Amino acid sequence: MSKVRDKVIPASGKLPLVDGFKRPISYLRLSVTDRCDLRCSYCMPERMQFLPRKEVLSLEELYSLSLGFIARGVTKIRLTGGEPLVRRDIVDLFRALGRHIGTGLEELTLTTNATQLAEHADALASAGVRRVNISLDTLDRARFARLSRRDALPQVLEGISAAKAAGLKVKLNTVALKGINEEEIPDLIAWAHGQGFDLTLIEVMPLGEVEADRVDHYLPLSQVRAELEQRWSLTPLTDNTGGPARYVRVEETGGRLGLITPLTENFCGGCNRIRVTATGQLYPCLGGGERVDLRAALRSDEPERELERALQEAMSIKPERHHFRIDQRGANPAQPRHMSVTGG
Ligand code: SAM
Ligand code: SF4
Repeated sequence: MSKVRDKVIPASGKLPLVDGFKRPISYLRLSVTDRCDLRCSYCMPERMQFLPRKEVLSLEELYSLSLGFIARGVTKIRLTGGEPLVRRDIVDLFRALGRHIGTGLEELTLTTNATQLAEHADALASAGVRRVNISLDTLDRARFARLSRRDALPQVLEGISAAKAAGLKVKLNTVALKGINEEEIPDLIAWAHGQGFDLTLIEVMPLGEVEADRVDHYLPLSQVRAELEQRWSLTPLTDNTGGPARYVRVEETGGRLGLITPLTENFCGGCNRIRVTATGQLYPCLGGGERVDLRAALRSDEPERELERALQEAMSIKPERHHFRIDQRGANPAQPRHMSVTGG
């Protein structure tokens, strides 16, 4: 695809986004596709129904929306999905957005499963990406194949090495899963820290239907932490990387460990995030059904005015907190949307 061009040039000098609970919104997670080359069993079913391509925003539209957010005080944009790197020409969007780093945008980053990172790491670094979040739930090839339903661990490890070689700061994300990778968590942390990477553990969230009952694999991080404390000294840190993770230093490895605990410890008080799906639906809360349609605004006759109106509405409907629960067998998910739709 040719270069991504500006379609809507948002007026500068607009007021920053602040929600109804006086939380400034500075962090956009933008899903660029709902498609993925893996099928992690806690994220989506094997026969996931993906959206027709025409429903998905074009790269120009994704760019225009992002500029609108930057003009309203968003300083950090994370491209996600689905798997962002399966979208054709996605590096063009990184390049276009990268040009705004230092003039409103402070950080441009992505969350990826790394299967195609080896191919793109250098281009992402030249586009201005400095940090990358990589999902890695196991270092065991057979377990990886079972969990993601694809035998892709070698490519993922290659992608991780390429990111490191390209000078990207790598953070690993690991979903803690009872009876699946539970035993391996200390090894994963030790491996990550040995490579100089932070690692963040995440509690599995009840988003979208999958084949298994999530109760079976839900592992509270309060329990994981207690077990890690039997082995290591964990020193709480005040570091904040703009996301929901709380950090500790593992004294024995010298590395940082993040904990994202939507179930056991609510972190919504300081929420600075909004999410936009690949079809331009703005969800002000990952765990809520509230949404506004930015695609309709963008495709209207007066995109700037409509976008402005939609953003104001989004700020007024952002809920105070999510209401995830995962303690009831056979319960419906908290939200019918899969994480791959809203963007992780
Ligand atoms: N495909 C990319 C990846 O896996 O990094 C980006 C999208 S993925 C939806 C983003 C993150 O969400 C991943 O770290 C994944 O492990 C996590 N995730 C997916 N479904 C989840 C769930 N139900 N609960 C908690 N985390 C989930
Ligand atoms: Fe794909 Fe990421 Fe979901 Fe795994 S977690 S299926 S890699 S979107």
